[in-house]
Amino acid sequence: MNPRHSVTISILLLALLILSGSRPTTRAFAEQSSTGTTAGKSDRVTYIHCGTLIDEKSQAPRRDALIEIAGDKIRSVAGFPAGFSKPADAAFIDLGRETCLPGLIDTHTHVLLQGDQRRGQYEEQILKWSISNRTIRATQAARWALEYGFTTIRDLETEGAYYADVAVRDAIRQGVIPGPRMFVVTRALDVTGAYPLLGYAPEITVPHGVQVVDGPAECRKAVREQISYGADWIKVYADQRVSTEDGVVHSIPTFTQEEFAAIVDETHRERHKVAAHAMGLEGVHSAVEAGVDSIEHGAYISDDDIKTMVAHGTWYVPTLYIFVYADELHTAEGFPGWKGGTEIHAETFRRALKAGVKIAFGTDAGGFEWTVNPAKEFPLMVQYGMTPAQAIHAATVSASELLQMQDKIGSVEPGKFADLVAAPGNPLSDVGALEHVDFVMKEGVVYKK
Ligand SMILES: [Zn+2]
Repeated sequence: MNPRHSVTISILLLALLILSGSRPTTRAFAEQSSTGTTAGKSDRVTYIHCGTLIDEKSQAPRRDALIEIAGDKIRSVAGFPAGFSKPADAAFIDLGRETCLPGLIDTHTHVLLQGDQRRGQYEEQILKWSISNRTIRATQAARWALEYGFTTIRDLETEGAYYADVAVRDAIRQGVIPGPRMFVVTRALDVTGAYPLLGYAPEITVPHGVQVVDGPAECRKAVREQISYGADWIKVYADQRVSTEDGVVHSIPTFTQEEFAAIVDETHRERHKVAAHAMGLEGVHSAVEAGVDSIEHGAYISDDDIKTMVAHGTWYVPTLYIFVYADELHTAEGFPGWKGGTEIHAETFRRALKAGVKIAFGTDAGGFEWTVNPAKEFPLMVQYGMTPAQAIHAATVSASELLQMQDKIGSVEPGKFADLVAAPGNPLSDVGALEHVDFVMKEGVVYKK
């Protein structure tokens, strides 16, 4: 998200945030070396008793399950035997009153952003915060993401912080700081004149939230550069200047099809994937025709493009909550917002769901402050037509498939990483229970208990 679609926001919003946000408290790791890495790397065995287990493999939830974890992997899943007593050298965690699920996956985040919807918020981060400052805050965002229950995230660009996401990803991977497993895109791509900061005098050079490229050669070169510096995915901004008219969101495509083709071809040639921010009819069409791998936001998608997405297996990451969040702020501000765009988005979601488009959970966290739990996306997915089980599937199995990690994460079964969360209540009847995750394990290490 960026401030182009944002509308100016103000102060009432703070009140909203305080009311709606559940700020995670800083917690010591329950099971840690200095960084929480050692336990998961050893062969230490941990047994977990789950009152209910949604394993994302069985047809129905399992009652009273026993998960055996060895080191960072799940070794077995079975019924909890009467009179169970753990071996002396193993650990035991009793979640008998909880519902356990695979670690959640958010496929659209921005750890380098600390909210961009309020007036001046984006400019302040780009112009006044050093990249060092922003990176320190990103480490806090990453920790909070993990504590909310997101054990894996795809972080969709640094908004002017260059390659800082690579550093955060690697620090987590190396056990220097706690955080989710990260897939990153680094700088993202857009054309001249399309991406903030904009509107300054021509003789003043201002930074932009993306790498600006024009022409197929520059596009191809930037893809090579970003991948060489550590990008897992490439992100493009497919459109700009969004407007709504007669139930349709319109936009102006940024890249020519020739430029777009160069980006997709070079990225795929290097065996990476392309995510496209695309809001309106024209931008989505341009991105779908170019053969991108995921459409981000997709406030309006034509029925023809939905058909193409189904045929090509193109992912849809709708990021519903950020728009509701923005609308609430705009209403509080007395600002008209984007004229029914949120309703159009809901209707697009329903059409895509009905047509069988592959939908993965993604929130645009960072566009809203990290003090707000991104799990607020779940109830909206249900409100717009998914069952709670489908919404959970989108944040586990489907998201793991988008990341091509389905052999390692996304379900609770032997051989996969021991990424587990638990919450009181039954998320299959009230998916809002996932806003209250109180147990988080990643790769066999407990980060919240
Ligand atoms: Zn975003």
